[in-house]
Amino acid sequence: MKRAERALRVVDGATKRAERAPRMVDGATKRAEPLLLRGGLVGGRRQDVAIRDGRIERLGAPLDAAGYETLDVTDRLLLPGFVESHIHPDKAFIADRTQGLRAGGPTPQHLVAELKKTFTVDDIYARARRVLELAVRHGCTTMRAHVEVDAFVELRGVEAMRRLQADVAGVLDLELIAFAQEGIFHDTVTKDLLREALKAGLRVLGGCPYMDGDQRAHIDWCFETAQEFGVPLDFHADSSDDPAQLTTDYIAQQTLARAMQGRVTLGHLCMLDVLEPAHRARLIGQIREAGIHVISLPATELHVKARTDTRRTWRGVTRIGELRDAGVNVSISTNNIVNPFTPYGHPDLLRQALVTAMAAHLGNLDQLAWLPELITTNPSRALGLEGYGLAPGCRADVVVLDARDAAQAITEQAEKLYVLKAGRIVARNTRTSELSLPRRG
Ligand SMILES: [Zn+2]
Repeated sequence: MKRAERALRVVDGATKRAERAPRMVDGATKRAEPLLLRGGLVGGRRQDVAIRDGRIERLGAPLDAAGYETLDVTDRLLLPGFVESHIHPDKAFIADRTQGLRAGGPTPQHLVAELKKTFTVDDIYARARRVLELAVRHGCTTMRAHVEVDAFVELRGVEAMRRLQADVAGVLDLELIAFAQEGIFHDTVTKDLLREALKAGLRVLGGCPYMDGDQRAHIDWCFETAQEFGVPLDFHADSSDDPAQLTTDYIAQQTLARAMQGRVTLGHLCMLDVLEPAHRARLIGQIREAGIHVISLPATELHVKARTDTRRTWRGVTRIGELRDAGVNVSISTNNIVNPFTPYGHPDLLRQALVTAMAAHLGNLDQLAWLPELITTNPSRALGLEGYGLAPGCRADVVVLDARDAAQAITEQAEKLYVLKAGRIVARNTRTSELSLPRRG
């Protein structure tokens, strides 16, 4: 390990703000040496993991270490690199520029729309970079980010995020969504700007039907444009508690009609929680049949939902357990970071796993054991990642946790001791405690 550690190089933070972010190590420029992770826990068993040319070569116990640098991770839990499948770095770290949510006050959409007009490319780049640095520090190796494209911010977010995408290559795979946060029918420019963004290389189209009066027309335009450009779709959908506004059934119908099964993702889906049980079961069946991926965003729902309900405090998180039991591919993601949507948002998927356990009745031992799927294998399927996982031939994207199993990792919010991207250490974290306790009597 000594040589591998010496090979790490600290790079400068991009801005003053970024200086408070963790130091990043430059994994992009050097070829990774063959590496042997010694004694980690994979699938509940102690195994060595041999890594060569950025991929997992083999697993076993014990493996011959000749020709490898070794890293002792004995009895530490190994998980595949975390996948942020729904996140907004372009509007992160702006909570201090505006008021927060309050009774009778403006919506978060309204507050952020005003701020967006003043965003510059450099401003977006600096704030988004800080998000990415923190995400890597917390074990994220692949991220799919929404980039807002509209009359307020035009293509400045696209320019900033494209630059960032190139700058983090090799450390974090960053996929970008051209996202219609403001709807598409309020002005004459947004549709063309979204098309420009897709031409510029953004690989996913993101719709937001509830921002337009005619939700179905919005959905139709998204499907037509996605088919024209050959890109998958990612909708923010059904985030309210009014079943009269439901669109998921129509999105499922269109997905099947246009043979886009497996290429449509749906974020929020809060409305599912308030449907009558029979209706809910029917809708879940339609989601599964259409191969729609669902992403829940628990931290944002807990902060934003039911602000006007005087009778009860609806928490707004979709039925994650029921979706999973029915065979739907369901994930969780961070969504917003330090803005009016989630002032305490932080790009740490292990934290989201704990929030989910608490918010979605998923805290028994069985559930804690499978919760990591929601931040690893499930979002990797939603993004269509090739070679993902801890198996021979897979990309060596690995998180080493200071815990023996998932329940402990989530409960104690265990430190991510090492984060590996394609076999290279891109983050190393330690946590030190000193306790002074009396001896047992
Ligand atoms: Zn979102």
